[in-house]
Amino acid sequence: MTEQANLLTGAAATARVTVDLDAIVHNVEVLQRHAGNAAVMAVVKGDAYGHGLVPSARAALRGGAHWLGVAQLQEALALREAGVTAPLLTWLHAPGVDFAAAIRNRIDVGVPAIWELDAVAAAAREVGETARVQLKVDTGLARNGAYGPDWPALVDAAARHVADGTISVTGVFTHFAFADAPHHPTVQAQQVRFADAVRDCERAGFALEVRHMSNSAATLTTPQAAFDMVRPGLAVYGLSPVPDIGGPSRFDLIPAMTVSANVTVIKRVPQGQGVSYGLTYVTPRETTLIDVPCGYADGVPRAASSVGPVLVGGQRCTVAGRVCMDQFVVDVGDLPVQAGDEVVLFGTGAHGEPTAQDWAEATGTISYEIVTRMSTRLPRIYLGEPDA
Ligand SMILES: *Cc1c(COP(=O)(O)O)cnc(C)c1O
Repeated sequence: MTEQANLLTGAAATARVTVDLDAIVHNVEVLQRHAGNAAVMAVVKGDAYGHGLVPSARAALRGGAHWLGVAQLQEALALREAGVTAPLLTWLHAPGVDFAAAIRNRIDVGVPAIWELDAVAAAAREVGETARVQLKVDTGLARNGAYGPDWPALVDAAARHVADGTISVTGVFTHFAFADAPHHPTVQAQQVRFADAVRDCERAGFALEVRHMSNSAATLTTPQAAFDMVRPGLAVYGLSPVPDIGGPSRFDLIPAMTVSANVTVIKRVPQGQGVSYGLTYVTPRETTLIDVPCGYADGVPRAASSVGPVLVGGQRCTVAGRVCMDQFVVDVGDLPVQAGDEVVLFGTGAHGEPTAQDWAEATGTISYEIVTRMSTRLPRIYLGEPDA
């Protein structure tokens, strides 16, 4: 859709997520500068952290990303169905996943376990093509990679499948446990273990195209861990994975997502009026209350009850009382607000609005969760999308 058509669609909605695709392009350019000679794999799992899979992926590719990474095969297949031809890696599968579809669509499969390697090899024989596999080693996160003696066993099993032509090992990768604390000793220790795992693959004779371990935090703070490729997610969307070290502006990132809604009902109430379910907020004086039409069904955390910050009429105000499924109330004092006025929950922060990081801090979570959980009930409005 054109930008204008998108804006009209959004104007009809009571609440919306606006995504600035030019911000994604810019953020990938910034990440590429940090990555030096390493390639960028933009991570677009989780509907591109809530920003919308296909438009975000295309913007990341415009920004110079060479690869796209997702957690689930269905996400990779959705990209192929949309006509995205860039190299793709998917890395989280349970038995029963249709690896034949991955092979037919030239999607690299991240493999942490022998059962999965065997299933991919069986699918490759069925399809009659060589499967592209990237081995995932656990270097200390204790999550989804091959751990301890399972790693050399996985390498040996992969070598047998390579020898019979069913698979090609195109990459090796791992994931940091604590990259947001760049001086934590595990950051160095995991790099050493990963370098050993890379050597194991090279000794086995695999024709590796990519070796990679860095998420957003490592890309921005630990450049020596870049190897051939970095794998940032959060920073692609302009949020800082290390808010204590530096917010988006310190890294020149631009938050891509803005969430806003239009005021429905306004009322003047006396001092002592309880507000929303349970009447947990009580007006401290005569004041104006506004009703904002988005709630936890839209991804507004219920934990934001009486603490979530918003911008209305150029002023910072706070959610009054409980966030409901479809709406919440804000005490705006004596601000002159009218039905239809825009309330911004979060955005870039450049116009005084709160950021996703502010919402994370107010609700005791991380900005990843704030943006990713914005529900698809909120229409996505894309700015900066080139005309089709
Ligand atoms: C989600 C994920 C990433 C991206 O992490 P960010 O912290 O968002 O940069 C990279 N690699 C793997 C394996 C992941 O699961």
